[in-house]
Amino acid sequence: MSGVFDHLEWPFFDPEHRVMAQELDDWCQKEGLASVDDSDVFLACRELLRRMGEANWFRYAVPSGPNGEYGGQNPELDSRSLCLIRETLGRHNTLADFVFAMQGLGSGAISLGGTDAQKRRYLPKVAQGKSIAAFALSEPEAGSDVAALSCSAHRDGNDFILDGKKTWISNGGLADFYCVFARTDPEAGSRGITAFIVEAASPGLHIEEQIDVMSPHPIATLRFEACRVPAANMLGELNQGFKLAMRTLDIFRASVAAAALGFSRRALKEGLDYARSRKMFGQTLADFQLTQAALGDIVAEIDQSALLTYRAAWVRDVARRVPTAETAMAKMISTESSQWVIDRVLQMFGGRGLVKNSPLERLYRDIRALRIYEGATEVQKLIIARELMKR
Ligand SMILES: Cc1cc2nc3c(=O)[nH]c(=O)nc-3n(C[C@H](O)[C@H](O)[C@H](O)COP(=O)(O)OP(=O)(O)OC[C@H]3O[C@@H](n4cnc5c(N)ncnc54)[C@H](O)[C@@H]3O)c2cc1C
Repeated sequence: MSGVFDHLEWPFFDPEHRVMAQELDDWCQKEGLASVDDSDVFLACRELLRRMGEANWFRYAVPSGPNGEYGGQNPELDSRSLCLIRETLGRHNTLADFVFAMQGLGSGAISLGGTDAQKRRYLPKVAQGKSIAAFALSEPEAGSDVAALSCSAHRDGNDFILDGKKTWISNGGLADFYCVFARTDPEAGSRGITAFIVEAASPGLHIEEQIDVMSPHPIATLRFEACRVPAANMLGELNQGFKLAMRTLDIFRASVAAAALGFSRRALKEGLDYARSRKMFGQTLADFQLTQAALGDIVAEIDQSALLTYRAAWVRDVARRVPTAETAMAKMISTESSQWVIDRVLQMFGGRGLVKNSPLERLYRDIRALRIYEGATEVQKLIIARELMKR
């Protein structure tokens, strides 16, 4: 069930989007994606990567290039496709959503700022699911205040030497390469940061710690110790890495809203099925007006999130404008609302909602990180207000 009211009819989409979303939904069901065992998160990610790669879904995570040489579906990243895919995967399997998202986010700086040679070298393998990508921006002392990052890179002949730490890096320890943002000018704040492609096997790159977070997620702290990276792996221009990081986040942030939307839709489906079947006081849980009031609130919340999410994606794809405020609103509302929706549905399940690894208990843990990563809710509020003041 994609929604109570069929959002695919909305004018934000082209016919190809509608076909693609239906095909992905059918594929997820055929694959039994909802029941992939993720007790070993590394194995589960590899398995999902293999299956999605064979079915060619990662072609939406990278651009195609002028003659299809980068392996993607569309000439540029298509925000509506990214959102529809994340919403659909998020509804079936939250880890599958993560795997898809990271192929796009992890290679996003190459898609947006790489040279033709870099794109030809890295993107086709990402599109085939044969190479795993990661995005390494955050540091122990630079999360929301990312311009304060201190991991450094200095030139040495034909190479750069990286020293420092990155933390909370999704796919850390699993990735084949990392797009790393490092300080190349200590005095220049956000104008002194440069991006590099660092291959996992580079000497001097160490996985310092795998971090065990509340929902299954491969995530690590990386340490760079005189890590030598060829200058040919510099992404974009020297000292222009902050802008590249923001451009990458700008496109993938709307897709976080879409993932949260998918989690909400899954919760609604579970809640409806349960409310219709649970007998109490001589009727079903769904027969009570209090339950119906909750369902009314939930459905309105979900449509609000969907409208904001696909508006942001449409503004980028069709109105051809960077939807900074629209994306921040979508991310904030959809992730916060999803946490509320999941909590409300869990309440309908009573004690059953608390059973470990039951769908609602899983969603309750899975949604939490989305309110923090790619800009916490508080940061989104500031972005919206800043855009308002500019106008
Ligand atoms: C599961 C997960 C996956 C992640 N994956 C990646 C990844 O792949 N790559 C990567 O680079 N990073 C990744 N991150 C890091 C993520 O982007 C950071 O956690 C996030 O930017 C917040 O930084 P922080 O954790 O250091 O919190 P802090 O920056 O210390 O912020 C703490 C809290 O302060 C509040 N806050 C922030 N700014 C303000 C403000 N101006 N006013 C008032 N309150 C404020 C917010 O509530 C925030 O949650 C991931 C994080 C998680 C949890």
